[in-house]
Amino acid sequence: MPVLQPMIDRFLQQKQQQNDRPMRNKLHPSTIGMCQRKIVFEMMVVPRALDPPRLARVFDNGHKVHERYEQLFMDMGIGVAREVKLEKGDISGHTDALIKLYSFAAPQGEYWLVELKSASSKSFEWMVKNNQPKKEHKAQLTFYMHLSGIHKGVILVENKDNQEIWEYEMEYDPVFGQQLEQKALWLIDLAKHRILPPIPRGFSPSHYKCAYCPFAMYCHYGSRTEDGQERYPIPFMPGTEAYRDILKIIEAMEQGKSIPNVIEGDTIGELIQEMTRKSQTYVDA
Ligand code: SF4
Repeated sequence: MPVLQPMIDRFLQQKQQQNDRPMRNKLHPSTIGMCQRKIVFEMMVVPRALDPPRLARVFDNGHKVHERYEQLFMDMGIGVAREVKLEKGDISGHTDALIKLYSFAAPQGEYWLVELKSASSKSFEWMVKNNQPKKEHKAQLTFYMHLSGIHKGVILVENKDNQEIWEYEMEYDPVFGQQLEQKALWLIDLAKHRILPPIPRGFSPSHYKCAYCPFAMYCHYGSRTEDGQERYPIPFMPGTEAYRDILKIIEAMEQGKSIPNVIEGDTIGELIQEMTRKSQTYVDA
């Protein structure tokens, strides 16, 4: 009989409910490399499954990697700031670490942004072998460079399984930076009008990104696996307010209408609180 696990899970769930990060119509630059549709779903604040406590521990682990390296850079004397705030209209967020390096070419010192990542062995080995970071990480750091005006950067990846590290140096690409800003403005505008962008090419129901996406029940409603199982069932009991709200959105999508606004809150915490309540409230058919 586990003693600690239920306590840890409950605590993490309560902590998630207090997360006051604004989501509604706000684009977080860290998301810019993700699926365009996922970004808009997040900005529209739509019902979604509650993250299992295991996922909260995964995120927590990622945050701790950031904290460790940010502290390390400070201890090494190269750390300038643990993060840089980024604000431009409805684009809002922050970078990872800012460091300053001195070299023969830059004796007065140069600022660098460090994008910190942790990866499983499989993903880490792929990056090392191909000498390439993930596309979304490149986009993320380019967007940070574009918004901050700091034009040197490095992606530093730690292997979660054995703490090996690998890095990838980047120079700012102004054309790509501008394209990312245009994409951000387009997606913000869509979210404000509650319209979804198309599903990106290749994102079929079995695509690995969709398989881990909390919005797959919307994009791939009705999809079935080879053995006839519903691939992405609505993750709430039929008859609950949460289930009914999700069906309302799917219906609007099928009819090509704008996405109904069924959530009152604007932050992640408020969304989780509302979903917790709505998953336990039964409504008349
Ligand atoms: S289910 Fe797939 S297409 Fe839809 S938002 Fe998620 S990743 Fe994008």
